[in-house]
Amino acid sequence: MAKKLLVIANWKMYVQSQEAAKAYVAGLKRKLKTIGGVEVWLAPSFSILPLLKGIKVGAQAVSAHADGAHTGEVSSAMLKAAGASFVIIGHSERRAVSDTNEAVHEQLVRAAEAGLVPVLCVGEQERTQDGSHWNFIEEQLASALRGAQSLAGKLVVAYEPVWAIGKSAQDAMQAEELQETVIFIRKTLAELLGRTDALKVRILYGGSVEGDNAQKLLVEGGVGGFLVGHASATLDDFVAILKQCKK
Ligand code: PEP
Repeated sequence: MAKKLLVIANWKMYVQSQEAAKAYVAGLKRKLKTIGGVEVWLAPSFSILPLLKGIKVGAQAVSAHADGAHTGEVSSAMLKAAGASFVIIGHSERRAVSDTNEAVHEQLVRAAEAGLVPVLCVGEQERTQDGSHWNFIEEQLASALRGAQSLAGKLVVAYEPVWAIGKSAQDAMQAEELQETVIFIRKTLAELLGRTDALKVRILYGGSVEGDNAQKLLVEGGVGGFLVGHASATLDDFVAILKQCKK
């Protein structure tokens, strides 16, 4: 059976207070009663995650280590105990400050050990004339997923071209370009995981998704949903996207 569309809100550090987060979730749950056909997950900051009830929550990052002397890190087991069901791994904002492909792989293994669904982010810095961005995406997938075949049924891949993040709908990726990339990612996953398992992986798009471009990206881009950054910070903007989630 085809899975529902999945939309994940990546709150980054946008939603800061516990009160604001709880009010957002209460409002979202009311709205979801009238919006069908879409599954919604929330990725708040660590400090807010355990407080949100009645909605699937996950973390924005996880340690590559299981335990020990790692100041400032949060392990996958700690996230699970705090109520997380999933974790975003390899987000470009984390890759920019610390996370190598090797660390991303280790984080994926830690997530799987704790039973968290990994939302693996991949995406090129820029589109190149010589097509080397395809190698870049392939390498990110291959290094993250090496030896992780058993994850296939649970894995979510978020394709997030770095150049399209944090802009407006007009400057985001266009649907035709997205469709071509989704086909490439699916083909790469088939090589890494086998065709049957690759078909089980949900492929999301992230990068300046707003109410204005969501439907076109979904219908023509061929994705299974979105990872939403800035437009998830405000409930009305996020709901505008959810209302467009019809294929
Ligand atoms: C993101 O960083 O995951 C993201 C999708 O950001 P934005 O929607 O703000 O481009």
